[in-house]
Amino acid sequence: MTASNTFDHVIVGGGLQGCLLAHAIAHHQPAARVLLAERANDLCGNHTWSFHASDIPASARSWLDPLISKSWPGYSVSFPGLSRRVGIAYQTIASDDLREATLRLAAGEAGEVGRGGFEVVCGEPCEIVSPTCVRIGETTLINCTAVLDCRGRAAAVKSPSGVGYQSFIGHEYETDRPWPVSEPTVMDVRADQACGFEFLYELPFGPQRVLLEYTRFSEEPICSESRAEELIAARLREAGVTATSRLRSERGCLPMPYSAPTGGKLVPVAGGYAGGWYHAATGYSMPLAVRFADIVAQVEPVSIAAALSKEAANDSLRRSFSRLLNRLLFCLVRPADRWKIFRRFYRVLSEEQISRFYAHRFTTADAARIVIGRPPTGLAPIRFAKSFFPRTGPGLA
Ligand SMILES: Cc1cc2nc3c(=O)[nH]c(=O)nc-3n(C[C@H](O)[C@H](O)[C@H](O)COP(=O)(O)OP(=O)(O)OC[C@H]3O[C@@H](n4cnc5c(N)ncnc54)[C@H](O)[C@@H]3O)c2cc1C
Repeated sequence: MTASNTFDHVIVGGGLQGCLLAHAIAHHQPAARVLLAERANDLCGNHTWSFHASDIPASARSWLDPLISKSWPGYSVSFPGLSRRVGIAYQTIASDDLREATLRLAAGEAGEVGRGGFEVVCGEPCEIVSPTCVRIGETTLINCTAVLDCRGRAAAVKSPSGVGYQSFIGHEYETDRPWPVSEPTVMDVRADQACGFEFLYELPFGPQRVLLEYTRFSEEPICSESRAEELIAARLREAGVTATSRLRSERGCLPMPYSAPTGGKLVPVAGGYAGGWYHAATGYSMPLAVRFADIVAQVEPVSIAAALSKEAANDSLRRSFSRLLNRLLFCLVRPADRWKIFRRFYRVLSEEQISRFYAHRFTTADAARIVIGRPPTGLAPIRFAKSFFPRTGPGLA
């Protein structure tokens, strides 16, 4: 670190949100002085972060596009009785690519972007002392105009009391023959659903490179390794290819809250999982993490909290509705019937409605279309109307 220890922004946590934020600030405020502090030895962990292209607001495209590792023109879903191609571009950022791009920014290799000075510190614990001060390691105090808390799930300032879970085990393979499908399959729900909602997720990265990820929605954060291996092996057989090597693996678990968060105040400003900037009903972080980064990067550090509160207020009904969907999924439907909610979603929604839903920009009419239907996989109209008046006020998560 340089001798000067005064920055405009200190970003604490170099995962998805922290790195996106660094790129957004470097683009919108190239003269800003930014420090990114990550406690692990490396930025970004080990992930493939996918999203619908329509999740990304136009103002974020210029800084986000160079970070994209792979794009496909559309994707498919497959359920018993329904197969559909969705013509919305699907994109992925690999954590290796985001890490390299962020380190290039720190090395001053991004030209004018980030010319104010962008520093990265990894491998040191970082404690937030106040909204304008952090401690790195045992003793180094760093002052700034705004501390931005991007410490992820472990630092979530508000904890919901009711949650289900989405758990994943994924492996990326090199194969002996070309993968037979050129676009992703975002949900392949053809396996037996007796144990709850489970499916395979498939990203063909290259002619002979594919990520196959087992996903399970359940009450507990548990994913069976043997079940994942079984479904992945079956898909490789069906595709008529042999995996010649396993290139990487990823696993993890995402909470899907269905009750309103309680406690906690947004001091300092918190993004990503720490601040509830993720889509509670899909588990995708990208749409709201990009939105958070783009808002923060376009205002002066002293105006960040006000800009975010305004956005959160605009979005609060959508956040309540996402939790309602999780309640429908985890509390009102038998585990073996959960998949039918998703089949209904893909059966009744237009591509415009699907893209608004994933982008967390859906309208009340979209919300009604998603849930009003015959129970158990739909809600009666009166129950749907009541869902917009939650007993606990909507918060930031
Ligand atoms: C297997 C899997 C697949 C997923 N796929 C997708 C997907 O396709 N699309 C999508 O949008 N989302 C996806 N998600 C969700 C997404 O990965 C997370 O929601 C997202 O990473 C949250 O971003 P974040 O920056 O808040 O947290 P993280 O990415 O977890 O980053 C938090 C960072 O803060 C660091 N940290 C914590 N405490 C401190 C401290 N005191 N000092 C310094 N650093 C600290 C951590 O080490 C970490 O690097 C997936 C999740 C999993 C588990």
